Amino acid sequence: MPKAILFDASKCTGCRACQVACKSWNQREYTETHNNGTYENPLELTSQCWMRILFNEPEEVKDVNDLRWYFTKYQCMHCEEATCVKVCPSGATKKYKVSDDDAEAYVVMTDPKKCIGCNYCVATCPFSACRYDAKEKGIFRCRLCIDRISHNSSDFPFESKPDFTEEMKKKYPRNIPACVHTCTSGALSFGEREDLLKKAEERKDFLKNKRNRQNAQIYGVNELDGLHYIYVLEDNPEAYGLPKNPTVPAGVTAFEALVKPGYPWGGIALVGLIAAAGINFVINKRNQGLERKEG
Ligand code: SF4
Ligand code: SF4
Ligand code: SF4
Repeated sequence: MPKAILFDASKCTGCRACQVACKSWNQREYTETHNNGTYENPLELTSQCWMRILFNEPEEVKDVNDLRWYFTKYQCMHCEEATCVKVCPSGATKKYKVSDDDAEAYVVMTDPKKCIGCNYCVATCPFSACRYDAKEKGIFRCRLCIDRISHNSSDFPFESKPDFTEEMKKKYPRNIPACVHTCTSGALSFGEREDLLKKAEERKDFLKNKRNRQNAQIYGVNELDGLHYIYVLEDNPEAYGLPKNPTVPAGVTAFEALVKPGYPWGGIALVGLIAAAGINFVINKRNQGLERKEG
C-alpha cells in the first residue's frame, strides 16, 4: 500500500526537532546561518537542508485571540503526478519501490550517477522542493527516509551510511522516518496513506466541532493526484504558505510526450520548456511563501 507522512499542524509546536533529525540522519553538513528577524532557519531549502519548519502568522490580527503561528513542515511532497519525474531527460529521477512485495509504495529519488545536472526538476517543481549540489553532483530532496522504512536499501541510488553503528540502530528504530520518530508533540505520523487519510478526517472534524476551527481542512488528498505528505490545517493552505492549487507547469506534459532521445525537435522543445519553467519558478517563489528573503 502507498505510504505517507501525516503532518497535523494543529499539534505542531514549532520545536524543529524534526528538522534536526532529518539533517542528522541524512548526514548533511551544518552551515553557518544568521538570525534574520524570524525563527525560521535556514531561510530556504538547500542540498544540505531537506526540510524546514515555516513560521507563518495571520495577515490580519484584530485582537489578541488572532495571534498565533501557522507552523508548516515543508519538504518534497512525493507527488503522485511528480513533475520532477516527468521532466527528467536522463531517467535519473524516478519512483523507487519501497519494497519488492509492494509495487504501490514508492519514494521519488534521483540517481546521482545518472543525473546530468540540467536542473529542470529544480526549475519546475511546483513546491520548489529539490536542490542541485554541484560538489556532490546530484539532486537532493526528502527521501521519506527510504533507508529506514525499507529493507531493500542496497537497491537505492545512494551510499549506505558508513558509520551506522549497532548503537545507532538501537537509538533510531527502523520502519519510521527520522522526523516522525523525533516529533515531540505527536504532530507527525507515518503509515499507509489510506489509514492516514481517515485519521486526518477525524482530526479535521474534531477541530471543526470541538475547537471551532471552521476553516479546518486536509491538504494533499487530490493535489497533483495525491501527495505522500498529508496535512491537517486549521486554516486555508495559503495561511501556511502552501500553494492552493499546485500544478504541473505548462510545457512539461508536452516535453514528456515529445522529447525522446534522438528526436530532432527535442532542442526546440527544451527551449520552450526552459522558458515556461523559468516563468513558473518566479511565480512559485513569489506566491507560495515557502521561502524567505533576508531582512
Ligand atoms: S514535490 Fe517536487 S521534487 Fe518532490 S515529487 Fe513533487 S515535483 Fe518532485
Ligand atoms: S522523511 Fe526523512 S528525509 Fe524526509 S523530512 Fe523526514 S527525516 Fe527528512
Ligand atoms: S518535531 Fe513535531 S512538533 Fe516539532 S516542529 Fe517538527 S512536526 Fe512540529
